Amino acid sequence: MVNLDTELDSLPRITPKYAKALKKLRLFTVSDLLRHFPFRYDDYSAISPISEISPGQTVTICGEIIKSKTTRTWKRKMTITEVEIRDGSGKIKAVWFNQPYLSEQLVLGKNIRMSGKISVDKKNAPYFSNPVWEMAVREATNTGRLVPVYPETEGLSSRWLRWQIQNFLKISLSSLNDPLPPLILKKLNLPPIEKALRYIHFPSTLDHALIAQKRFAFEEMFLLQLKSLQVRNVWQKEQAVKINFDEKLIQSFVSKLPFKLTNAQRKATFEILKDLEKSRPLNRLLNGDVGSGKTVVAAIASLQAISAGYQAAIMAPTEVLAHQHFLTFSELFKDREINIALLTNSYKIEAKPRLRSRGFASIKRENLLHNIKSGEINLIIGTHALIQEDIRFKNLALIIVDEQHRFGVTQRAYLQQNIEKMNDGLPGKIPHFLTMTATPIPRTLALAFFGNLDISLLDEMPKDRKKIITQIVDPQERNKTYEFVRQEVKNGRQVFVILPLVEESKVLTEVRAAVAEHKRLSENIFPDLKVGLIHGRLKSAEKEKVMQEFSAKKLDILVATAVVEVGIDISNATVMIIEDADRFGLSQLHQFRGRIGRSEHQSYCFLFAGSDSANAKKRLRALVQYSDGFKIAEVDLKQRGPGEFLGTRQSGLPDIAMENIANIKLVQIAREEAENILKTDAQLKKHPLLKDALKKFQEKIHLE
Ligand code: ADP
Ligand code: MG
Repeated sequence: MVNLDTELDSLPRITPKYAKALKKLRLFTVSDLLRHFPFRYDDYSAISPISEISPGQTVTICGEIIKSKTTRTWKRKMTITEVEIRDGSGKIKAVWFNQPYLSEQLVLGKNIRMSGKISVDKKNAPYFSNPVWEMAVREATNTGRLVPVYPETEGLSSRWLRWQIQNFLKISLSSLNDPLPPLILKKLNLPPIEKALRYIHFPSTLDHALIAQKRFAFEEMFLLQLKSLQVRNVWQKEQAVKINFDEKLIQSFVSKLPFKLTNAQRKATFEILKDLEKSRPLNRLLNGDVGSGKTVVAAIASLQAISAGYQAAIMAPTEVLAHQHFLTFSELFKDREINIALLTNSYKIEAKPRLRSRGFASIKRENLLHNIKSGEINLIIGTHALIQEDIRFKNLALIIVDEQHRFGVTQRAYLQQNIEKMNDGLPGKIPHFLTMTATPIPRTLALAFFGNLDISLLDEMPKDRKKIITQIVDPQERNKTYEFVRQEVKNGRQVFVILPLVEESKVLTEVRAAVAEHKRLSENIFPDLKVGLIHGRLKSAEKEKVMQEFSAKKLDILVATAVVEVGIDISNATVMIIEDADRFGLSQLHQFRGRIGRSEHQSYCFLFAGSDSANAKKRLRALVQYSDGFKIAEVDLKQRGPGEFLGTRQSGLPDIAMENIANIKLVQIAREEAENILKTDAQLKKHPLLKDALKKFQEKIHLE
């Protein structure tokens, strides 16, 4: 018996060729296929009399085949199938190319339905060219109704999918169990599962399709919220060490900073320090635009933990950034008895107050690990090298993950699962967990995806910042831009030229592009200036050297790939040129741009668009117009959808939920209903169907 869990490739009617294509779409079971939803519907529902159709229209007709012939043009190696169809009102021709098998099906006397656009032939007579068709005796599936159009892949057409789905709907609807409790369906006025499935695949009206979409969007969001609340509940049962808020300590640290904290920084700092005082682990996302000053907030939290006698760790997504943090923290804590280590795959460095005057000491990995384990090191900064199996801490009480969206889901999961084992000296306790991100996350998304976290917002920039002047530059103005660059360098400023990453798999192409651009700029355009180059294929030590030279003003211009996208802080850099800017998401461009405008000097960002299309320019205009990352994120979200925006493609959250994530009301209702259920049934024991659906959902999206 076929049921929802039946594997598609076990069915005789699904040949291996189709099974393979289905797998490509990640469709494995009957249930997966039924949940492969159309992304639009072609409205072929109205059947027109042939006499009333006119060229240019897209119409559906129904009639009898009165002529049919298939010819082969030898010259152009084509087959042409031509039929003539008649209904009560008139007749019309239809033509298909290169479908020789049609001649066997489209035979005289058959009645067919046909949908498509009407063209005119040389004699100005209307005809159908390559229309969609089916036998009139068959149930309206591909014509004569609202026809679902599905995401396709090679060898898997919507036509084929319609046929299969229609069949499976017939044989499996009776075995369908609805994971959504009837009470919720009733309360929200949503259709039960079997109705919703029929409505979404083969709606008789668009309203039916919409209400079905609403149901499934709610369902996905509801499961997501259940999951995130469960994670949160588990987290809240964990124990962490209480770290008292030492106001004097913090005040003295803040008073020695070279700047005044913004109100947003104060508020976030306060929220974090208050959380640290609790025995339940802090689990907070510090969400602030590029340049809003997250690092110093992280420093204050670390200082508090370290002064209370614990260790703190900071994890950054790239070695360049980890190294920069190491330097920043060494500077911020230079007057304090705090031992800092940098641990990445390339660096094992220790900085102890006594040694600092003589620079930093490189150290053998095993010695460093020993010093971390013994507690001699108070602050450990690193990349994901920090969470390798053999690392043990003495009493790690706080972990800070910078640019957390850059870490893979698996790394985050690993960290959360192994956190307890990593800490020898604090049995039964887990560290407080602070994540930071520079991707401003619109509220709805934050709620939908990070619903299990508390959030602190840095929605205010340091006061001395000037708005970065951003321009989309016409190709003819390139030289003018270069003149401007020269002028700024003369004034003592520095310049980034960004050649961003196109695709992960194209690293080599990108490196080549960067090398070529570096050559062009250093030899032809700015032979008199010092032009450096940094890209992903350089060794860490080489990258480091280049960054240090740039930072020490030994370079005027730095040609860079995406390696400088996150975190880099060089406040003397005031000009940025971004090549091929149109290929990138607005949020990513905003991140690049965040490398400049970090001081009191006026900064400039010049965008060159590789394509000249008006669309590309229109998209980029959001960057010219807005400097607020939250605003840009919203535009970006609208343009690209949340999957691209958050980089959660890999998370596999179904498109229908993704599309509805920007719908704050839906998210909120899902959240409320999830809270309601968990209040009385935390383990979902009374809702076995829901529990089962949640398990499957979790497997599908690999949620931590
Ligand atoms: P991000 O939030 O992007 O990580 P950073 O922490 O790197 O930003 O801070 C950007 C720059 O702003 C740094 O050079 C930092 O020293 C400086 N900064 C941070 N807070 C303030 C402030 N309140 N006033 C002035 N400058 C600040
Ligand atoms: Mg940062």
